[in-house]
Amino acid sequence: MYIDIASGFVIYAVFSFICGAEWSWLNLALTVSFSFFPFSPDFDLIPFFLGNELIFPLFGIKFRFSSHHFIHFPLPFLLIGTLAAFWWISFYLALLFFFGALAHFVHDSCEPPEKKSGIQWLFPFRRDLFYFHGGIQVLPYKNWKQHLDEKRRGAEKRSAWDEVKSRWEPIGVNTAIFLITSVLLLAVFFLLSR
Ligand SMILES: [Zn+2]
Repeated sequence: MYIDIASGFVIYAVFSFICGAEWSWLNLALTVSFSFFPFSPDFDLIPFFLGNELIFPLFGIKFRFSSHHFIHFPLPFLLIGTLAAFWWISFYLALLFFFGALAHFVHDSCEPPEKKSGIQWLFPFRRDLFYFHGGIQVLPYKNWKQHLDEKRRGAEKRSAWDEVKSRWEPIGVNTAIFLITSVLLLAVFFLLSR
């Protein structure tokens, strides 16, 4: 979470500087929304929560989603989102979207192996999941489905709040350094663009 927010700060400052853009709180907020929430790959948390907490219980349906990764597919997500931003808004916003969402996918891929997860970087060409842990590791798709079934077994005990908390990583030294650096970069760009 903090890393996604800091990534948004860095991407906003760097690409706004390169593009010669003026300071804009709106564009800063949009970039953080691309790297963190809600216009990021984690947009899929919305149907995840609505389904699990509201819609399924409302109809007395027992099913619960065990993963919210409905749109965590970098190739189509980045392609469609970047083209849409370019087409309807601007090249500058398309750049902010592309790098913001890319940073989110990269961060989601940096998982310890015990989480046995990862991202389907090559979907729709290949469904295996890739994660970065001392190099690029591959998790075969069938193993991931098995992992999801295990997760689903405990899903009814987890509340929406538990899901949010599980994404709320503690601030370690590296995260703190990255956060401070990102705020400094923002401050430099703010001063330069006035
Ligand atoms: Zn994510």
